[in-house]
Amino acid sequence: MIISNIAELRTLLSAQKVQGKTIGFVPTMGYLHEGHLSLIRQAKAETDFVVVSVFVNPTQFAPHEDFDAYPRDIVRDTELSLRAGADLIFYPEVSEMYPEGASTFVEVEGDITHVLCGLSRPAHFKGVTTVVNILFNIVQPDNAYFGQKDAQQVAVLQKMVRDLHLSVHIIVCPIVREKSGLALSSRNKYLSAAQHRQATVLSEALYEVHQKCINGEKNAQILINFITKKINEKPLAAIDYVQILSYPMLQPIEKITEKSLVAVAVKFGNTRLIDNIILE
Ligand code: AMP
Repeated sequence: MIISNIAELRTLLSAQKVQGKTIGFVPTMGYLHEGHLSLIRQAKAETDFVVVSVFVNPTQFAPHEDFDAYPRDIVRDTELSLRAGADLIFYPEVSEMYPEGASTFVEVEGDITHVLCGLSRPAHFKGVTTVVNILFNIVQPDNAYFGQKDAQQVAVLQKMVRDLHLSVHIIVCPIVREKSGLALSSRNKYLSAAQHRQATVLSEALYEVHQKCINGEKNAQILINFITKKINEKPLAAIDYVQILSYPMLQPIEKITEKSLVAVAVKFGNTRLIDNIILE
């Protein structure tokens, strides 16, 4: 079932809650792949009624970014979601989510939103936290499922939930990858065959760094240099960042002595890919 209207969605969800059903929520921007579906399956395994939202959120895109071009296919998304265990697809118009004149935003301040993707996409996380708050207010889920693929997003949302005393549990699900190692992303569709082949360098570099760390290399700069060199060997890759930070606070570190995030963002043509690994 697809619902586009907030009032209608609320009525349906109230009926579930009255029966004592727990609500699992999977927010997405659509064009679903196995990564999204793994979140839906986990939500289905852990909660009684699963809501998947499909909403390409304009406030998290900068004017020069790919909001208009972002791939969309609601018919396919609905079919895949239902098959993975979704009970309801929430597919609102922009005007439903942001009533005319809406000017209220939720922003997590501090380093956590100013490093990594926050540097190259300055308004991005403000858009994400605002829309996720709106969605949480509408759906009022018990659990909300997010992918470790967007590790900084998860850290920011966990901080928002804590800071605002929201009652939702954030559940973080592992990164789903192609056989080649490339992390699944709706944006992979933009890659040419040659770019796609070269993009596997991201996961290769991250796995090698993981191994190096296990073997005793704890110097963050040495590991960053290793990844940078490896990615730069691919002529179609242009690095946006390669960083190692503490996780989830995202503070600079010199040595890997605590839980750390190794994160990369690399452009192949106009397509910007991100990937990461957590070193425990
Ligand atoms: P998006 O539609 O890109 O906004 O992603 C919706 C949710 O799916 C986010 O929580 C993402 O982190 C998650 N996700 C996207 N790609 C993957 C992946 N390859 N593995 C696991 N989760 C993912």
